[in-house]
Amino acid sequence: VTSRLGESVVSHVAVEDRGANGRCLCCTFSVCGKETLISKFIAQRALRADVERTKTYRCRNCGFAFHGRGLTSEEAKNYYTNYRDAEYFRHRNHCEPLYTLGHHNRLEAHVRSAERRAKLQQYLNQNVFPAFDELEEVKILDYAGGDGHLVADLPYEKYVFDLSGEDPIADVIKLDRGEIARQKFDLVICAQMLEHTTDPAQVIEELLGHVNQGGYLYVEVPYRETWLDLSGSSSVRRRVLRVVEMNPKLELILDTYGTLIRRATGILPPLAYVSVREHLNFFTPKSLSELTRSIQALEIDCSRQKTLGTVLLLRKI
Ligand SMILES: [Zn+2]
Repeated sequence: VTSRLGESVVSHVAVEDRGANGRCLCCTFSVCGKETLISKFIAQRALRADVERTKTYRCRNCGFAFHGRGLTSEEAKNYYTNYRDAEYFRHRNHCEPLYTLGHHNRLEAHVRSAERRAKLQQYLNQNVFPAFDELEEVKILDYAGGDGHLVADLPYEKYVFDLSGEDPIADVIKLDRGEIARQKFDLVICAQMLEHTTDPAQVIEELLGHVNQGGYLYVEVPYRETWLDLSGSSSVRRRVLRVVEMNPKLELILDTYGTLIRRATGILPPLAYVSVREHLNFFTPKSLSELTRSIQALEIDCSRQKTLGTVLLLRKI
């Protein structure tokens, strides 16, 4: 079983260090990088290697943050095959004691919640569906949508593309890659995927390829994941990493401290760092908007939407 994320598109960026040219992946302004560690779980599950270093880059213009190291298609396949099953949980919990079963289940419950589906429907009622009034047939595709739960309550014909092997739920038709290549859709939805991808601009282009002329692309990433960096200078960071690399217990303490404070306050506190986990990209609305500036589509909306996330809505022209 491999989810959509396990299939990588041909990448325009260097997988080993996506910030090597010193440019923001979204707006191309110059970026500064500080060293960080690849988490033990990503190293073991995706890279099949020991923990290594990379850099976390931040753009002062659009606020985008990203880890240098992306995943090759082979590494993405390693990571996203049987994604979030029992063995995934066991292994991750072993590497990251903070990733408890309660946390795991809360994430799943939110993703599948009725509140979230209702909020999406409300958003689409306002911004997309009025344009469909004159169409005889409307097709909606949830790209990488698992069993299609997110679109199940929506009107119109609903399809899901996902390689997870899950059966689609009632009213949703599952399509394979060949089938989605042979038709186009009036609305393509891609929720909570772009933050995992090595080449997000390339993914947006690919998604737009599935949209009808005049149709819409809805992209959603986490609500707010960027941080105010109070962690100290690059040289402080290098010293911190040198110490924790020799002391796994200290690494766990510092990682826990940094993660808890960052999640609660949006501040990366002194001495902390953001180690590489499955999110490689941390978007602001501005960065998401910048990412699509060279693409042939009209931006209808780019905003933070509570209970959904940071949302980008494009219309294909
Ligand atoms: Zn930027």
